[in-house]
Amino acid sequence: MTTQVRLPDAEATRAWGRALAGVLKPGDLLVLTGDLGAGKTTLTQGLGEGLGVRGQVASPTFVIAREHPPLPRPDGTRGPALVHVDAYRLGSLDEVEALDLDAALDEAVTVVEWGEGWVEGLTDDRLELRLERPHGGVGDDVEDAAAGERVLTVQGVGDRWEGVELPGQAAATPTA
Ligand code: ADP
Ligand code: MG
Repeated sequence: MTTQVRLPDAEATRAWGRALAGVLKPGDLLVLTGDLGAGKTTLTQGLGEGLGVRGQVASPTFVIAREHPPLPRPDGTRGPALVHVDAYRLGSLDEVEALDLDAALDEAVTVVEWGEGWVEGLTDDRLELRLERPHGGVGDDVEDAAAGERVLTVQGVGDRWEGVELPGQAAATPTA
């Protein structure tokens, strides 16, 4: 299962994250890939809004993992917490173990930026999201780099994601 979505600006990326929250369950793992500034944190902010969690999702400074507890919904129930990991500064696998993500992986929605290469060992099921700038990135032509468009490629790995309909997918698939 692979889906590609065009995201013309930052708000589109947040909105897609908000919509994705509707299909997520406790225990889901999302792996976000893309250059610095590609929009990984922006998408995670939308997720946080969609899940209805406490606190502003931000780019961590010293903190590598941050847990956002769920706020009560109007009907009194709560969804899963959001655990946001930015592994950019993570130096070693020992530091990964120190994050102690096992509890989060059972109960929360866990989003990992810069997780490639180590997160695969944590669980069999994961949603891989890759953000790319089709018109170039930092260091390329200034006008092109400023263009907000991103292309998001989503791939589900494992049984959990089989047959799951992602935001933007139904629109892209012609109906009979
Ligand atoms: P990352 O976490 O991948 O390093 P951020 O989400 O922190 O990236 O930053 C992305 C920056 O690019 C933000 O300043 C955001 O406003 C801007 N931006 C412009 N267009 C988009 C888009 N289509 N999707 C996401 N971010 C965008
Ligand atoms: Mg980030």
